[in-house]
Amino acid sequence: MKRYQPERVLLDSRAREWPLTGVILERLSGVPVEEVREVRPLIESLKNTRDPIGAGKRTLFLTVDEGRSFKPFPESEPYLSCDYFTLHVAEGCDLECSYCILQAYLTNPFLTVYVNVPEMLGNLERFLADHRERFFRIGTGQLSDSLSLDHITGFSEILTRFFSKQPNAVVELKTKSDNISRLLSLSSGGRTIVSWSLNRESVQKKEEHKTASLEERLAAAGKIARQTDHRVGFHFDPLVDSPGCESEYLAMIEKLFCEVPSEKIAWISLGCLRFMPELKPIMEERFPKSPLPAGEWIKGMDGKMRYFKPRRIELYAQLRDAIRSRAPGVTLYLSMESPEVWREVFGVEHSKESVCRMLDSAARAAKKDF
Ligand code: SF4
Repeated sequence: MKRYQPERVLLDSRAREWPLTGVILERLSGVPVEEVREVRPLIESLKNTRDPIGAGKRTLFLTVDEGRSFKPFPESEPYLSCDYFTLHVAEGCDLECSYCILQAYLTNPFLTVYVNVPEMLGNLERFLADHRERFFRIGTGQLSDSLSLDHITGFSEILTRFFSKQPNAVVELKTKSDNISRLLSLSSGGRTIVSWSLNRESVQKKEEHKTASLEERLAAAGKIARQTDHRVGFHFDPLVDSPGCESEYLAMIEKLFCEVPSEKIAWISLGCLRFMPELKPIMEERFPKSPLPAGEWIKGMDGKMRYFKPRRIELYAQLRDAIRSRAPGVTLYLSMESPEVWREVFGVEHSKESVCRMLDSAARAAKKDF
């Protein structure tokens, strides 16, 4: 997989004082740097170009976070959530998945990196210390890919060192890249979970542009699982339906268990493709060859477009059986589905509390002292 290199760096003048800025500029020596006091006018003029989203990805914007970096993952009432927290060290993604929600969600198209990470982590450390009675699962992959810029930012190292010292939290680094070289030489005591979004081969090739291939992702996961004390996770999300797609998903599951020892897997999630209606015209414009916007969709209880419920249940059940036959004890959960769908798929009642308990226990599993 080709590593990202920006065409230019925009440097917020407030970011200059942070040591990470110097480190990043050194790693990008030769890339033109433009210092700015106010980025808004540049964002506005970018919006007048033909493809602001694509153009924005070619610029790396170094700035400082103003205290909004650590948040609960937004929950959607009718669906079971799991008390997941997000840490935004970056916003935007260099990869180009046709279905990426960020295309409709982010108002700043520049690939944004927050360099005041020590300040963010200082605040987070105090928060975790003030809530020792609770356990936290925290991820960085909600508004960006956690690892695709790691050769430039080194966030995996900073975060792994930080979380290895936190008694009541784990960090999940979620990616569609194979950018794992820093992680191979680090120890996390099981408090870093490196997870991959996986899709069947034809979806990866046609819809997940610039990402690592399925083979590259699985090879990277195998290395992490065998050569480090980090654990791995997998998100079969978004599952993309098409006639006969099951056989391709089952082949993907076979490959996964050939590459990765199941005892190193913290969790596997399943989630069918869903998107806000506002994303549809953006997908049509930016990815005219993609068949996804023209699929058969119904509006879910959260306003997002989804496949029909019986079809979602059918897909989940087939993948559940394939996963359970290879790894009966692995923690398996559904992403953004109702209690009814959970019951149909797993045959038992689940609540938000039971899902949280299951995932907390999976997160703690590697270390007895959690
Ligand atoms: S890897 Fe994730 S964040 Fe990046 S483009 Fe794809 S869906 Fe969006």
